[in-house]
Amino acid sequence: MEIPKDVEALVASGALFVANHSGGKDSQAQLIKMLEVIPAAQIVVVHASLGAMEWPGAMELARNQAAASDLQFIIAKAGKTLLEMVARRFEGRPEVPSWPSATTRQCTSDLKRGPIQREVRRYAKDNGFKVIVNCLGLRAQESSGRAKRQPFRMNERDSNSVLTWYEWLPVHDLSADDVFSIIKSAGQQPHYAYALGNDRLSCVFCIMASKRDLTNGAANHPTLLAEYAAMESRTGYTMHMSRIPLVELVA
Ligand code: SF4
Repeated sequence: MEIPKDVEALVASGALFVANHSGGKDSQAQLIKMLEVIPAAQIVVVHASLGAMEWPGAMELARNQAAASDLQFIIAKAGKTLLEMVARRFEGRPEVPSWPSATTRQCTSDLKRGPIQREVRRYAKDNGFKVIVNCLGLRAQESSGRAKRQPFRMNERDSNSVLTWYEWLPVHDLSADDVFSIIKSAGQQPHYAYALGNDRLSCVFCIMASKRDLTNGAANHPTLLAEYAAMESRTGYTMHMSRIPLVELVA
């Protein structure tokens, strides 16, 4: 795997590489590629647990992949679930939409990014790392927003006098087919939700999910569907960015 010169220098200087791992195919392929160029002692795998909201087996896939290469594995957990976050927001400000949106992705920041940063800072402190390279399995082909992301950059917003943060997107230029073939060539299996037809994996019911992913989620997780539908009724707002009620989307 070819890596940017800056990343090469960070590997040589002993930086800590954080493999963000959702349990999805892109995270899985990312970790396979990272292991080709980074010593295991410089990698930590971190999974932001979304509890009952995420596809079962996602955390286990990340944990097992880390264990297979003797990598450190951390679970980052927020103090609330997505549905609790929505309920609290509704109670505090019923006049504004209670659910996160594609532009205000409070779910990503509060349930994933924040808890992951907290755990990584702790891990870095305990293990004497001063430089962090946060690796995200984002691909340009997923969206125009992701296409615009720089594959490597210094993250000035999160850097401070104690820790310097960089961001690297090791699979940014790959297609979905590339990713599946990397997983296959490594002798691994992707999460079973892909065999059910899912395009993406994280929350079973994501605010930005395709109709197909939502339908798969509903067919396999009817109890969770009922919980989401009940929260839509309670708040009077819809979960999905299309503003169509979830039960109609999956009908
Ligand atoms: S998967 Fe979707 S709903 Fe879940 S945290 Fe991420 S953006 Fe939010």
